[in-house]
Amino acid sequence: MIQLTGKDEAGLIAALAGDVDRPFRARQIARWILHRGAQSFDEMTDLPRSLRQSLGKKYSLADPEIVRVVSSSDGSSKYLFRLSDGATIEAVAIPGRDKITLCLSSQTGCAVGCTFCVTGQLGPGRNLEAHEIVGQVRALVRREIRDSGPVNIVFMGMGEPLLNTANLGPALSALYETISPKRITVSTSGIIPGIRWLAGLPRHPKLAVSLNAPDQTLRQKLMPITRRYPLAELMATVRAFPLERGRRITFEYVLIRGVNDTEKQARAVVRLIHGIPAKVNLIPLNSDPIFLPGLERPTDEVIDRFARVLRDAGKTVTVRWSKGHDVAAACGQLKGSHQPVR
Ligand code: SF4
Repeated sequence: MIQLTGKDEAGLIAALAGDVDRPFRARQIARWILHRGAQSFDEMTDLPRSLRQSLGKKYSLADPEIVRVVSSSDGSSKYLFRLSDGATIEAVAIPGRDKITLCLSSQTGCAVGCTFCVTGQLGPGRNLEAHEIVGQVRALVRREIRDSGPVNIVFMGMGEPLLNTANLGPALSALYETISPKRITVSTSGIIPGIRWLAGLPRHPKLAVSLNAPDQTLRQKLMPITRRYPLAELMATVRAFPLERGRRITFEYVLIRGVNDTEKQARAVVRLIHGIPAKVNLIPLNSDPIFLPGLERPTDEVIDRFARVLRDAGKTVTVRWSKGHDVAAACGQLKGSHQPVR
């Protein structure tokens, strides 16, 4: 079966060209898939029955199967999906006051191996196909979207999206059909070739960079892959990233007690990002004694002090008191295939 759901309108029309000869028919089908979230050709009641039947034999509109949903007391829901080869991934729906944020996975594990991240401790997985990325959105939108306002997408689930650009590119194009690029954030550990690739796209999502340390030595300890992508070169690449009017780079900084949480380190962060339109998102570590033994979240006082140094230097700072903590859906807690599946 040929999967259609990871394609944008032009891609769908091209894919269907051999089976749907009239352009208006192909556009009709694309609308069903992109705007109405059709899961089968039978739903396309304005198509001749014979065409629906023949397309249904050749093409698939199936999304990853939801095998479990766990709801948190704060309103967020963690979804476990099973893919067609049996691999499992997680995604999280986080309702806000006037929007809903969907946190997506881009790989079934992660080769980056950040020492503070549960996914990173599980090792590398495979890249998700474009339809498996878009399929998470389609499935979550069906389940979660009622009157929740606009949808925001963040690639902050399992995997490093910029190590999967071959599938992220088509997936972004397909998502742009219904969601503005300014509502989509790609978060990277700092894969320099990937950031350059993103910068070269005709339309850019927002860029978030997981910083976590103000110097190369500590950063390399926390995020081993950064040996290949040194901090100085990363910052030069980020400075060159094209920013649409009003946009900023987000720097994420996971705060770990006694490791990267001092006022001196906060001042070093200020110097490092000087001159970049940026906001800093502080993420107090979500402790996990099994997967992240020995790593602790700093006290609220230390977190406040770190934030104050940045604010006093004129930086925009948010502290992400992660949602979904009680169901292990918070940042760095997604484990996908290592959850028992029933
Ligand atoms: S924080 Fe992101 S890049 Fe680092 S190991 Fe976890 S999923 Fe991979």
